[in-house]
Amino acid sequence: MTDEITSWLRQQLENQRHTAHALKTLAMAESPETAAILRRTSDQLQADADAKARLLTGIHGPSDRLVDGTPECKGCRDLWPCTTVLYLAQPFANQLGYRSEWLP
Ligand SMILES: [Zn+2]
Repeated sequence: MTDEITSWLRQQLENQRHTAHALKTLAMAESPETAAILRRTSDQLQADADAKARLLTGIHGPSDRLVDGTPECKGCRDLWPCTTVLYLAQPFANQLGYRSEWLP
């Protein structure tokens, strides 16, 4: 079974990392005050993406255990995709590929 929400969310997190990197590049051409804001925002975006990726890798994901043909989450035992992952995906709901059935 293809785990589409995990694949899609990992791509969004990778895009977020690229945005974080771009902000650091932009900071080099800005005033010290603006550069500090851009660098801090970049660091927050990077840390946010890393934390969410760790949740997807280490905790939440589809297990082999099925309930009426739907896998349980290996971390929280909700049906997959679990509520935690739906909330992780929600900030990216305006991005291409987001599905209305992923609304928490
Ligand atoms: Zn879960």
